[in-house]
Amino acid sequence: MNASGTSSLSYVQSSPGSPWGSYLMQIDRVAPHLGRLGHWIETLKHPKRTLIVDVPVELDDGSVAHFEGYRVQHSLTRGPGKGGLRYHPDVTLEEVMALAAWMTVKNAAVNLPFGGAKGGIRIDPHRHSEKELERVTRRYTSEIGIIIGPQQDIPAPDVNTDARVMAWMMDTYSMNIGATTTGVVTGKPVHLGGSLGRVKATGRGVYVTGREAARRLGMPLQDARVAIQGFGNVGSAAAELFVGGGARIVAVQDHGGTIVNPAGLDLAELIPHAHRHGTVVGFAGAEVLASEDFWSVPCDILIPAALEGQIGAERAARIQARLILEGANGPTLQAGEDVLADRGILVVPDVICNAGGVTVSYFEWVQDFSSFFWSEDDINVKLERILVDALKHIWHTAETLRISLRTAAFVVACTRILTAREARGLYP
Ligand code: NAD
Repeated sequence: MNASGTSSLSYVQSSPGSPWGSYLMQIDRVAPHLGRLGHWIETLKHPKRTLIVDVPVELDDGSVAHFEGYRVQHSLTRGPGKGGLRYHPDVTLEEVMALAAWMTVKNAAVNLPFGGAKGGIRIDPHRHSEKELERVTRRYTSEIGIIIGPQQDIPAPDVNTDARVMAWMMDTYSMNIGATTTGVVTGKPVHLGGSLGRVKATGRGVYVTGREAARRLGMPLQDARVAIQGFGNVGSAAAELFVGGGARIVAVQDHGGTIVNPAGLDLAELIPHAHRHGTVVGFAGAEVLASEDFWSVPCDILIPAALEGQIGAERAARIQARLILEGANGPTLQAGEDVLADRGILVVPDVICNAGGVTVSYFEWVQDFSSFFWSEDDINVKLERILVDALKHIWHTAETLRISLRTAAFVVACTRILTAREARGLYP
């Protein structure tokens, strides 16, 4: 048995503050609410498949570098594995395991017919040329080719990967098996079987679930002050939609630093600036703030949309917002979560808040199989319906059982996963 976030697996170390440790603690909180299905809970503490690969690549100067790559399939109980691929110098197997597990929970919380998976390469992509990144991606795809496929496990973009990386993966997999297979990845360019609406889908999901939560709290979006950590795919798309809904973006923090403007940042200027310079820092229409002060900026809504483990007890005690929307995966540590609950700050958890991306990935996968493509309006309407219904169900579960939205999302998800587990039985 695992208790208090400590793993019983021999191949990974975890602690209560580490991503896998946080996941284990979340699972332990759900167990008492699962009735007879609790019998199967241990299966969620063991990733089904964990692959570590060496990625040797010739660099532009002729030397050879080795990178460590991972693909973890946490659960395939409800369908093929599904989850992104991350390029980051700090990626570890333990982190990828947690991200894969959260995908299992997310896909079940939204009721998509997928299990959960995730991939990562320990690399700083900013230190490599486009050609080097292409070679890294192609070799990695070949190495994990033995476990991915449109019916097995379908990668997608995550931190520092994008449609271009997905196109290289799709091409490599297709060349290796001798047939063009668009459905092996999602988040591809639209002209290669990608879906309209995918690029902004995660940010749109943050907005839709945030708007619904704000409505239930009686908080008008008109003139609401929003602070965002992370101004990449998720953060910038969410920012645009919140501004469209009448809110003001008063602070943004990215890897380069923090900028503030209590009157509201001008996104029409800030987004091109961030593209040009690779950071929001240096933007003329804002003041610079010390990084740690980001967490006490006066605001109504806070959106962590960068990396996990950002909100511990100390930062949680300083947050001014009434509502936190987890655009990132795993941004709140258990100790932070407890402080936020004591302070009456509502957290819309990652497994529902950022599920817009995987929902449109699901639409992309379905479109690729049928070779019939939908309009962007169609996609946005279907996305909104799925997320609003999922949040309603989770909210009702939270109220009925008097638990947090996160634990409620886990109860809804684990009930679906373990009902499927029980029906399938244990092989052999
Ligand atoms: P991205 O690479 O497009 O952007 C990441 C942003 O985070 C950048 O602005 C970067 O500067 C910032 N950042 C990195 N390190 C930071 C630090 N130490 N402090 C402050 N800011 C920092 O990535 P993304 O796709 O927007 O993903 C962001 C988060 O959302 C991740 O947790 C990811 O797992 C999650 N997520 C992404 C998707 C998706 O569809 N892209 C879907 C679900 C969840």
